[in-house]
Amino acid sequence: MKIVLATNNPHKLSEMRALFASTSVELLSMSDVGIKKDVIENGKTFTENALIKAEAIAQLTSLPVMADDSGLEVKALGNFPGIYSARFMEGHSYFEKNLEIIRMLQPYEDRSAQFTCVIALCNLTPRPLVFTGIAQGSIDSEPQGSHGFGYDPIFVSSELHQSFGLASEDDKNKVSHRSKAASQVIDYLKLKKLI
Ligand code: IMP
Repeated sequence: MKIVLATNNPHKLSEMRALFASTSVELLSMSDVGIKKDVIENGKTFTENALIKAEAIAQLTSLPVMADDSGLEVKALGNFPGIYSARFMEGHSYFEKNLEIIRMLQPYEDRSAQFTCVIALCNLTPRPLVFTGIAQGSIDSEPQGSHGFGYDPIFVSSELHQSFGLASEDDKNKVSHRSKAASQVIDYLKLKKLI
């Protein structure tokens, strides 16, 4: 089955394609179906933002549309940066952003954190479907490794016992918030015998 991925981010498209590679789902880009649109993510939660993106693109095609929203939540910082993960310290490198998160966390003992990914799926059922994946972990005292992207070097996965920055892509994909949310989509599509 074909599903349109509501993103203009080629990195996200290739990562999602890798997560669906073992299935019969063909993930199409917006340009594959002739859609050009920038959606403003002004929701207050990951779920709201994923729904805003998926619903906006779903109005422009009859194909199923999938969108995701994700970010890092640090418990002691009141779940910051959360939905602001991409926008936090805009214009600065992730190396600087990561050092700033570590600095902000200095006064606290609790270093627990999680990555969350919410996937919204529209045009399949009368109401949109929502799937959530969470990867638990903690914030390291210094960045470790250069694999992955974003906050990966400071996030120590509880399952891998190492930072996502040190983990191989395969290992990260086994436990990541994005792969957990994508697995739920795949399980749902299998259950409904759509794939
Ligand atoms: P969005 O889902 O494209 O809105 O971006 C979410 C932001 O959260 C990214 O720009 C990163 O800052 C952060 N983020 C989400 N997932 C990951 C991940 O797997 N590793 C590192 N950072 C991530």
